[in-house]
Amino acid sequence: RAKSTGRSTFSFYDATMDEQLQDRRMLTRELRDAIAGNQLTLAYQPLHAANGLTLTGYEALLRWQHPSRGAVGPAEFIPLAEDSGLIDALGRWVLRRACADAAGWPEPLSVAVNLSAAQFGRGELVAVVSAALADAGLAPHRLELEITESLLMSNTEQTLGTLQVLSAMGIAIAMDDFGTGYSSLAYLWRFPFDKVKIDRAFTQNLGSDPKVSLIVHSIISLAHSLNIRVNAEGVETPAQMAALQAHGCDELQGFLLGHPRPLAALAPRPAVLPPRQAPRRGAAGHSI
Ligand code: C2E
Ligand code: MG
Ligand code: MG
Ligand code: MG
Repeated sequence: RAKSTGRSTFSFYDATMDEQLQDRRMLTRELRDAIAGNQLTLAYQPLHAANGLTLTGYEALLRWQHPSRGAVGPAEFIPLAEDSGLIDALGRWVLRRACADAAGWPEPLSVAVNLSAAQFGRGELVAVVSAALADAGLAPHRLELEITESLLMSNTEQTLGTLQVLSAMGIAIAMDDFGTGYSSLAYLWRFPFDKVKIDRAFTQNLGSDPKVSLIVHSIISLAHSLNIRVNAEGVETPAQMAALQAHGCDELQGFLLGHPRPLAALAPRPAVLPPRQAPRRGAAGHSI
């Protein structure tokens, strides 16, 4: 191991990198077991209309409760899943679970699912999404797929084709973390986006920097002129909410309006309701 350099500093750094590599390998093995062994769950964070009151749906966020490490965040394990190929099985599980859960919510509540670039690679995504919807009995317009700008940069042509098919099925397509990546405006006209999600870095600096306010305002007017709705992520304070409302933002998401929670914490499952209960439609909006 690089000992040939004869410099102890090098072997020191190598040992550290080696440990990190070993740790990644172990975590990847454990992730494989976790997928098989039900350690992964979805948490659901509410999405609200701009008034902050009307619930419109939830975003599904992966959670891994590791038996000894405790909670491991998706920002840590999604990259491992992508590098190891586990993302296919994991992504399929997320889609199926989220569609099945959403099928138990009253209309018109929707579910948003994050996709990773690797899921576009094999050309199976349309079949995987279609099967998840069909098996859950969920209408396509109640599913939203979130993708990031980095995904669009790789394999642009194939990704475009896939997104056009999904969009034609009636599924909503959202650009996640807008403004943090390369933010090529070409994506906004080339790809069939229904929504952009302004990254929480903007939301959280809304009050402190007037430039941020101008940027947010511009993003919203640009999106609206292209018939694209706008979500703001990371809304934590009433002042941020008020500013976003003033700018004409369509949808709000953040700890102020609700943290990600397990399905069971959202509302009683339909399964526990007494049989022959009147349709739950009337309760739509705020009941879940
Ligand atoms: P994201 O899609 O941008 O999700 C929003 C993240 O912001 C979530 O972090 C959420 O818990 C957090 N968040 C929401 N509101 C607030 C707020 O008011 N303040 C702050 N500080 N944070 C807030 P989380 O759950 O750790 O997820 C991180 C990222 O991991 C997600 O970012 C998404 O890119 C990825 N991810 C999560 N679940 C999946 C999945 O099923 N598949 C894929 N491919 N990626 C996923
Ligand atoms: Mg997202
Ligand atoms: Mg985001
Ligand atoms: Mg993010």
